[in-house]
Amino acid sequence: MNALNRAVTGDSVPLRFRTLGGWIERPRDLQPELKGHEHADVIVIGAGFAGLSTALELRARGANVIVLEQEFAGFGASGRNAGYLLGSMGIEYELFVKRVGVEQATQFVRFYDEAVPYVEGRLKALGIDCDYTPSGVLRAGVHSSQEKRLRKNMALGQKLGAQTRFVDGDEMRARGIPPAFLFGAEQCGGTLNPGKYVSGLRRAAIAAGVKLYERTPLLSFTEGAVVTCNTAYGSATAPVMVLATNAYTPQLGVLRNKVAAIRVSALETQPLSPEQLAALGWQGREGIITPHYTMESHRLTAHGTMVLTVKKLGYVYGSKTPNIPDHGAYQALAQVLRERYPALQDLGIQHCWSGYVSGAYDFLPVIGAMGAKQNIYYTTGCSGHGLGTQSYVGSLFAAQINGEAPNLLAALKHKTPSLLPEPLQWCAVQSAFTAAKWLDAWTDKKVRKNTP
Ligand SMILES: Cc1cc2nc3c(=O)[nH]c(=O)nc-3n(C[C@H](O)[C@H](O)[C@H](O)COP(=O)(O)OP(=O)(O)OC[C@H]3O[C@@H](n4cnc5c(N)ncnc54)[C@H](O)[C@@H]3O)c2cc1C
Repeated sequence: MNALNRAVTGDSVPLRFRTLGGWIERPRDLQPELKGHEHADVIVIGAGFAGLSTALELRARGANVIVLEQEFAGFGASGRNAGYLLGSMGIEYELFVKRVGVEQATQFVRFYDEAVPYVEGRLKALGIDCDYTPSGVLRAGVHSSQEKRLRKNMALGQKLGAQTRFVDGDEMRARGIPPAFLFGAEQCGGTLNPGKYVSGLRRAAIAAGVKLYERTPLLSFTEGAVVTCNTAYGSATAPVMVLATNAYTPQLGVLRNKVAAIRVSALETQPLSPEQLAALGWQGREGIITPHYTMESHRLTAHGTMVLTVKKLGYVYGSKTPNIPDHGAYQALAQVLRERYPALQDLGIQHCWSGYVSGAYDFLPVIGAMGAKQNIYYTTGCSGHGLGTQSYVGSLFAAQINGEAPNLLAALKHKTPSLLPEPLQWCAVQSAFTAAKWLDAWTDKKVRKNTP
């Protein structure tokens, strides 16, 4: 058994599970639960990037806003993600074009790409320090067989308006990118600490006068010209409601046949020693994602650790979202760590966590309004790619509710295909995951063969 395999086997004990992401703790100034009755101009459900952004943008337009959050702001994917602020790169442009045609796909690319400067601007405007490094993001291949697909995807993206450039092997080496990554497509954006970002939005919302109720799950609602939201100890009414509950939305009985909750996992290492960091290179600290069918993401953090995510996705029957470990995913990520960084065999793993994103069959965002009065807005289907867009959508919703009718919001309107009923849905998702796993295992096997 070589050193690499020993290290992989050595990690096959359960890795330390964190019930929250590695970036966030339950806030000390937890906001009160909703008790009694409240009325507002808008009620937002869910306090992640989407909910907090919407609330802040509405408040800036003078609206009275209530936010109901079942746990605390940042409890969902917004506090658990990898912290990549990236535009349209990483989405499968081909699927978008097949589904909605070139013209509308261009609007979706615009939505993803405009979200990057939007968030960068918000960090400045709100004074949020979240260790943002505008390093750019690389979608980097680990085997030559990935190059053709990467270039094809990049070319189509450029046709749809995405600003991307190809980075060849020489440039990768000259920039000190870890040697496992051979070539890549690069786009602007960068990495940040998502826990600090969402906590910054929370602070800004409270300071702006948004009424945030934490530990207050929405239990049910009734629609109409006035929407009524019922919680355990009270109720709230408003002429407009925004559902910013993302992967949790199907559990509210809404869009159950449009989006599925998908579990995504992450691993964080111990801090790298100065010697390990120096040996690693990676001076530009670019966020790296791979073009696997189920991608890998690799990044350094401002506090000197590495965070790896994805590689193995999960689906729980009925789109449920239990906050439990996914040891299979953590082992897969540990193996990725050992294989992509053979020089870091001794680097310890600090902890792992999982969170939920939502996806539609066509991988397009699911954004719109519903109800007889079209006064219930929703944003879901972020497909694991929502740090930028779920923030940006807040400004579009606020503009729409304020009567400004932003044309981008209208341009995103499309028909989302229906999901299968259970248990067919479970079977379909597991089959898709297995096919992706098989294709990726084939690529990784070729990589291992090339590795001395
Ligand atoms: C491991 C992982 C890595 C990722 N990496 C990236 C990345 O690097 N870049 C990127 O762009 N995207 C990434 N994503 C996706 C990104 O995190 C999400 O797209 C984004 O955070 C979604 O934001 P949101 O506000 O829509 O949803 P969420 O952050 O999930 O917020 C929804 C909120 O609604 C609350 N809620 C749910 N039900 C109720 C209810 N009944 N009543 C009241 N409140 C309720 C939840 O508690 C939660 O706080 C990643 C996701 C994961 C899990």
